[in-house]
Amino acid sequence: MERLQGIAVSPGVAIGEALVMDHEGFRIPRRFLPRDAVEDELERLDQAILAATAEIERNRERVATQLGNQLAGIFAAHIQMLNDKVLRARLEEMVRKHHYSPEYAVSQAMRQWARVFQSVEGGRVAERANDVFDIEERLLRQLTGRRRQELAHINSEVLILAHNLTPSETANLNPKFVRGFATEIGGPGSHTAIVAEALGIPAVVGIRPFLTGVSGGERVIIDGDQGLVILQPDEETLAHYRFEVEEHRSLAAKLDKLRDLAAVTSDGVRIELLGNIEFPSEVEHCKDRGADGIGLYRTEFLFLAGDEQPTEEEQFAVYAAVAQSLKGQPVVMRTLDLGADKIPNLPFPEDERNPFLGLRSIRLALKYQGMFRMQLRAILRASTFGNIRIMFPLISTLLEFRQAKMVLADAMEDLEEEGVAFDRDMKVGMMVEVPSSVLLMDHFVEEADFFSIGTNDLIQYVLAVDRSNKDVASLYTAADPAVLRLINMAIRTANSRGVPISMCGQMSGNPLYTMLLLGLGLRSLSITPAAIPEVKQVCRQVSLKDCERVAERALRLESARDVRTYLKEELSKVAPEIPL
Ligand code: PEP
Ligand code: MG
Repeated sequence: MERLQGIAVSPGVAIGEALVMDHEGFRIPRRFLPRDAVEDELERLDQAILAATAEIERNRERVATQLGNQLAGIFAAHIQMLNDKVLRARLEEMVRKHHYSPEYAVSQAMRQWARVFQSVEGGRVAERANDVFDIEERLLRQLTGRRRQELAHINSEVLILAHNLTPSETANLNPKFVRGFATEIGGPGSHTAIVAEALGIPAVVGIRPFLTGVSGGERVIIDGDQGLVILQPDEETLAHYRFEVEEHRSLAAKLDKLRDLAAVTSDGVRIELLGNIEFPSEVEHCKDRGADGIGLYRTEFLFLAGDEQPTEEEQFAVYAAVAQSLKGQPVVMRTLDLGADKIPNLPFPEDERNPFLGLRSIRLALKYQGMFRMQLRAILRASTFGNIRIMFPLISTLLEFRQAKMVLADAMEDLEEEGVAFDRDMKVGMMVEVPSSVLLMDHFVEEADFFSIGTNDLIQYVLAVDRSNKDVASLYTAADPAVLRLINMAIRTANSRGVPISMCGQMSGNPLYTMLLLGLGLRSLSITPAAIPEVKQVCRQVSLKDCERVAERALRLESARDVRTYLKEELSKVAPEIPL
């Protein structure tokens, strides 16, 4: 049994069989073979060596004609290594004697070989290790054949263990079969983590490299509450976790009863609880959990799911269906928030050095106005089907907000000329997720119809800490006093001018912060649907007076640790049943 500590990003516990994806996205299959499969597997290995050799030979010929024989010599060396008799004998021994799968044998043998090269001092020989890795990858590609595209086609229950999963890969996972995942990299605020929560599957990210020690089919436990992955658990651990799974079920059943009750504090203040969604199918999750509407629809996921950019008609159909199914409840459609870690399959800017500080979000929309305008038209047309509000992401300057509104006004004018109906009084708001927007709140209150605080980005920008980087994950926390001060400023300014303000970052769905946020003056929270019952439970058990006392005290604390400890203490007094 081995316990691996990572970062807990999506709660719950899953027990099941591992599906392992390596760096290149290849599935690493089972480590051991059944006894009677040895001959067939050796034949498969030989075929793979032949195919890989032919592939290298083709490269060699091409390079020889274009650049000359000397450079093509690298490929000749690769062919020699690949067909080395000692290597072949070693692989055969591993398959015959130890019943290793050819893939596992190749990885083991090649890595031992690479290590020998790496241990030789002096650059030249050590560099040969890269050639060995190159050959290994080529051979594995021949053996496994399929890449990670097939993630969407998994049809038996698995837990995915991968080096990394992108937000769009995560978005394509089928939660019916993918019961949880764990990755070597990734941070607490990454969109991969957010999508895992939306899918309701336990997830752990930012574990150290561990994939070489595990193979497909092994039993694993993913503990999304504690951020643990347990490989080959013993019976005692399994029994403990089976009990945990039951506990989760019974708490969920208890909270389910809150569905039709309103989130009203003990002193009678009504709190609006909205849902955050990435996919239209989540509207049902919101209704099941008794949400008052949708406070954040991350529309860019429509652009991440497929290979093609969705047309205006396709977008219109989706947005109208979402609006209509909410039967008059509000839906805040956030316009495209692409870029940084959400890269669609579209012609996109060159690699950026600092993608979170680069051409992302509203900046990207304003640069590619054709795409932006098309989305705005689709949203406007859908607005006659329900209660739609529009929200621009990552606003950092007044000019940016005005420009976005101008593009919207243009789109409205076009529709008007075409005689197409839309809601002329649609409310237009903005995300507050860049510190500059908080500092300029007194100007923004003059121009925006509503605000939503995006703590996921606000935290990373105020603390200069990448939300998706595991190595700085301990700094990435909503409990930091600097973050609390910014949130306090934003709420105060908006409330003083009577402009509605909500919060849709992950912070708002964490019951640890509910008292604090109400005490700071929020009366509306937008949350991952799965978290609504717990937050509602807290709202119903606290008085606003207590919340204000908690907020006042929390604002005076010096460190994130102090804030967390204090909030835990206060929450356990009013809602001891909520697990933290
Ligand atoms: C945020 O930044 O808090 C937010 C809600 O937006 P996203 O997580 O999609 O960046
Ligand atoms: Mg954001």
